[in-house]
Parts: sequence; C-alpha cells; structure tokens
Amino acid sequence: MNYNDYKGVENYIFNAKNIVLSTHTSPDGDTLGSALGLYHFLKSKGISTQLVCPDTAPDFLSWMPAYEEFIIFKNDSDKFQETIKNADLIVHIDYNAFHRTGDDVANIFENHCTAKHVLIDHHPQPMKGFEAYVSDTSACSTAQLVYQFTQSVDAGLILSSESATCLYVGLITDTGSFNYGMVDEKPYLIGAALVKAGIDDKKIHELVYSNNTLNRLKLLGYALSEKLVINEEEHWAYISLTREELDKYNYEAGDTEGIVNYALSVNGVVAAVLLTQKDDKIRLSFRSKSQVTINGIARDHFNGGGHLNAAGGNSYAGMDETIFTLKQRMHEFKNELNKVG
Ligand code: 5GP
Ligand code: MN
Repeated sequence: MNYNDYKGVENYIFNAKNIVLSTHTSPDGDTLGSALGLYHFLKSKGISTQLVCPDTAPDFLSWMPAYEEFIIFKNDSDKFQETIKNADLIVHIDYNAFHRTGDDVANIFENHCTAKHVLIDHHPQPMKGFEAYVSDTSACSTAQLVYQFTQSVDAGLILSSESATCLYVGLITDTGSFNYGMVDEKPYLIGAALVKAGIDDKKIHELVYSNNTLNRLKLLGYALSEKLVINEEEHWAYISLTREELDKYNYEAGDTEGIVNYALSVNGVVAAVLLTQKDDKIRLSFRSKSQVTINGIARDHFNGGGHLNAAGGNSYAGMDETIFTLKQRMHEFKNELNKVG
C-alpha cells in the first residue's frame, strides 16, 4: 500500500464531477484550515468543491475565508445528506476513519453514499477501503500534507493568500505555533512558503489566539485554580469539568481547547488529561511530553486514539467512575511515566 499516493489522490480529484471535502467532528484548526486551503487551491484550478462538517466551528476559526460555504450536519442534516448522496468523490481530511465524523455522519458515508473515498491525513492506522491515501504520520499537520499536495500538482506554485491563510491556521494550531508534533524542518519551510504567499501572520495569530470570550478565560481560571489535580508520585495531572461547571461559564464549542496543555506544562508532569462532560459521554483529551507515548491508553481503554503525544477518547460511564478508571490505567502506566518524570 502506498500511503504517500499524491498522484493517486490527484487523479481521483481531477476526474471527479461532484467533490466533497469532509472534516471531522468538533472541528479544529487543522481539519477546517486544510479543507479550506484545498478548497481555494482547487478553485484556482477551475475545480469547484463542496465543504461539509459535522458541527459548527468555534469563533476563533470561523473567520477563515469561505468558512460560510460549509454545509453543517447539525444545522441542516437534509442538505448534508443530499450533498453526500450526489457526490462522486469524498476527500476525508484530517481523520483516519469514518467514525471520527460522529455516528450520524459516519452512517451516511457507510449506507447512503455511492461516492468513492480518498484520504488526506496524518493520524496513525487509517481505516481500510479508501481508493487512494495520502496518510503520513510524520507530518505535523494535515495542512502540511495539503500544501505538499498542491506542490505535487503544480511544483513551485505560490498559493493564493486565501489558501495560504487557511493552511497556516492548520499548521499553527496543530503544532502549538511550531512547538510540538514536528519531526523535521518541513513545517518551518512550509510556514515560510505561506508567508511568501502574502498571509498576514500577525493578524492570523490574533484571530486564533487573542480572540477569547471573557467566559472562556474565566473557565480556564476556574479549571486551573479549582480543578487541577496533580499526582506528583506518578508525574501526571488531570482536570475534570462536568456539564454543570461548563454551563456555569456558558460553555461554547472550542472553549476547553488548550486547557490540557496548561496541566501538562507543570514542571515534573509528563502526562495530562482533560475530562469534559459532553452530551451522553465524557470526552478525554490526553497530552504527554515528548518522551512519553500516550495514544495507547486512549486507544486501548477509552475507545479512541490519536498521535504519540496528543490523543483523545470517550467514556460512557459517569465522571467519578471515569476518573476512577483513568487513575487505575495511569497507575498501570506508571513505569513509563516514571522513566522520565
Ligand atoms: P483532542 O484532545 O484535541 O480532542 O485530540 C487530540 C488528538 O487525538 C487529535 O489529533 C485527534 O485527531 C485525536 N483524537 C481525538 N479523539 C479521538 C478519538 O476518539 N479517536 C481517535 N482515533 N483519535 C482521536
Ligand atoms: Mn491534524
């Protein structure tokens, strides 16, 4: 299997009539920025595409050029389903399996869709069944892969500032502004190419990182001052936020993004977990410092997965029971945590 099949993905895209660019649930900067970056690039090549997303984006991402083109399942499920039904190609962006779009959307892909499927993603263990794969875990972001795709189609092309702006958002949000998830110099070189394309990088940083509601900041303050629990002996930390606590701060999508990194930043801590109560489940967000691999716990015990140092999972038990289970799993993991702690 060729997991760097840029030409394969290109052939499918350039020979399709109704192309849908699809993003994952709880959309982040990388899935949205990559899809929009690709949307603008393909448009410049005379190829029009449709954008779909399971949920609405948080405010710090919804300013990206052409975001308003997204057909959002939660807002208009009929239109979403119709769009998928009429598609002959779906490009899955920044996720490795249909279920990462949520049960309802995954069901549409599986049972109400005749389109072919291709993948552009950087998560490990992509599911089988795509016609062509650009699937590379060495990439810091899917935005990097979309950029490389544009250069594979048209070597040396300087992207439009719209396309570059969106890809830059993917690049900085998935690396914490060139901080983690990078294994080589490519993210810097691509960042430079995007700056050369005429993006306003300072403005982008402002829109993404200095765009907090007061409620979001107060929630962060509460989480750190009241809810941060540190297990000094085992070198890990967690923060739990119940539905009630989130409601108290008028929680909106994206408000808890980044909180887990503060827990990880405590000196001596090498792994951190954020637990948030969402609808019928508890979401777990795992982070670890570079020497500790955390995605195994998310995959094996919490029905999830992700990257070596950033992973996610779910629990259908209550908050207290989930914390209890988490403590047990982390305790079993203590030799790994102790090695570096
Ligand atoms: P986050 O903690 O930001 O929600 O997710 C961290 C990383 O883990 C992201 O790169 C995301 O794609 C991945 N991830 C989050 N939740 C899941 C999940 O339920 N399953 C899998 N396979 N990956 C996940
Ligand atoms: Mn990503």
